[in-house]
Amino acid sequence: MAEDIQVAIDGPASAGKSTVAKLVAKRFKYVYCDTGAMYRAITWLALDHQLAINDVDAISELAKHATIEFKPGEEEQRVFVNGTEVTKDIRGNAVSKNVSAVSAIPAVRTEMTRQQREIAKKGGIVMDGRDIGTTVLPNAEVKIFLVASAHERARRRYEENQEKGIHTGTLAELQAAIELRDKKDSTRKVSPLVQAADAIKLDSTNLTIDQVVDKISAIITKKINN
Ligand code: C5P
Repeated sequence: MAEDIQVAIDGPASAGKSTVAKLVAKRFKYVYCDTGAMYRAITWLALDHQLAINDVDAISELAKHATIEFKPGEEEQRVFVNGTEVTKDIRGNAVSKNVSAVSAIPAVRTEMTRQQREIAKKGGIVMDGRDIGTTVLPNAEVKIFLVASAHERARRRYEENQEKGIHTGTLAELQAAIELRDKKDSTRKVSPLVQAADAIKLDSTNLTIDQVVDKISAIITKKINN
């Protein structure tokens, strides 16, 4: 019985992947890895270095030498890049607006994919992102493609940002930004956001977080017991 399996959760922006992935990881005592936070950390680093977002060579070089660390925090996982804590800054507008461009750079993806495979290699992992089931962990035992309507995703992210004190404009602006990011992520050449052929699609528009967690947990338990 293989107990420490790999679980890949992919889907568009703000579909609830990280909230759900965190809870699923906790339930199975697995490690949780937020790959979006890694692309955000590289984007933060590029902006911090005042690099132009189309300076592919300089950003590729930054990514190759970047050390990204996750550390447990009181409420959420803390994110560090090259020793600087960026947990909150990577959720701001500047990073959100530019992350799709940075994550479309092939050398950035190659380096992040290498680091993500290293984190996942022992199993017992829940990893969320856009290309986990298709590219990073093509052999993951469980693959979930989590979706929700754009309106519902914007509403949830708006509420979350309000709670965290992050300013992201109006609900309509947020929805437009989310839709734009989805479009860029789905149409890029390298590892676009696409459902893996063997992924299970879950629509969370009308489900609570607990219901989604229960559904995914049931799929994992079934896999482990097989
Ligand atoms: O998951 P989150 O919305 O924080 O991801 C931020 C961005 O990082 C995405 O819009 C996408 O451009 C990029 N990303 C990616 N591949 C992943 C995870 C995130 O390209 N596996």
